Amino acid sequence: MQNRREFLRNSALLAGAAALPSAAFGANKAGGGARVVSTWDFGIGANAAAWKVLGAGGSALDAVEAGARWAESDLCNSTVGHCGNPDRDGVLTLDASIMDGDGRCGAVAAIEDILHPVSVARAVMEKSPHVLLVGAGAQQFALEQGFEKTPLLTDTAKQAWEEWKKTSQYAPQINVERSKIPGNKENHDTLGILAMDANGNLAGACTTSGMAWKLHGRVGDSPIVGAGLYVDNEVGGATASGVGEEMIRNAASFLVVELMRQGRTPLDACREAIARVVHKRPQASKEVQVCFLAMNKRGEVGGFALHKGFVYAMQDATPGPHDKLIDAGSVYSTTQI
Ligand code: ASP
Repeated sequence: MQNRREFLRNSALLAGAAALPSAAFGANKAGGGARVVSTWDFGIGANAAAWKVLGAGGSALDAVEAGARWAESDLCNSTVGHCGNPDRDGVLTLDASIMDGDGRCGAVAAIEDILHPVSVARAVMEKSPHVLLVGAGAQQFALEQGFEKTPLLTDTAKQAWEEWKKTSQYAPQINVERSKIPGNKENHDTLGILAMDANGNLAGACTTSGMAWKLHGRVGDSPIVGAGLYVDNEVGGATASGVGEEMIRNAASFLVVELMRQGRTPLDACREAIARVVHKRPQASKEVQVCFLAMNKRGEVGGFALHKGFVYAMQDATPGPHDKLIDAGSVYSTTQI
């Protein structure tokens, strides 16, 4: 087992390495040791929750669900779970998805008053014939599955909404808070989490309250399999954060995984997917943030973003604190988003 420093160094070296033949993937069932990566600084806490599962020999699927549940409840975060900011009409709606490396997946979109949308997404995957449930139907399914209805909108989020209503300006491109990254944990977005377990199986999950002040009914990329999340045991997994409309337009997480299938490293695949976003909408790409995080079947990890400020966290079996954030590269390194 390589230690954390070696792993990071090797990942960095491999980022520039020659393309691997796609046949190299899938043969590596034993994997490079269990590990987990998550978006943003709250990824550290999510990874720790996931590691309780992975470190005890648990599955990647259980691990990513545990990590996402941590972000949904244990942290008061204005962009994920119960402390999320509401939509234009003052309603808090949550999106989540989960996927394993065998192509099983489930998702919920615009669900209200359910504390753990990621677990409802897993129930959709395991207990329904469907992949995606939305709105009132998603909540009805959750209640039928034994989840409890819990009013989630916090006073703080309500106050922020009252304040926003004074101008009613919906401007996801501004994201001024990101100028504080790394630092203020309240100001980041979706938790995207990818894990590999000791058996070399992969899984991923995404959970978010989406963009604050969105139109009621707006669904972002996080619950759209292939946009905010995609996992394939033969290749690797990818997840996304930022303005979800761009990810949906580009089937972005699927694109990252397919680029890895063609032999790109995780870093190169994320970089090329970002280049695609820029190519499609050069002007818009200067004004929105888009971030990708990927892990391949070998446990190599990479991330890349449109604008500076995107960080991610990783944890493996190396003893000691796993509280260092890794700065992903970006196209527009001078833009202050
Ligand atoms: N991707 C999420 C969405 O568009 C939000 C984010 O990650 O910033 O809903």
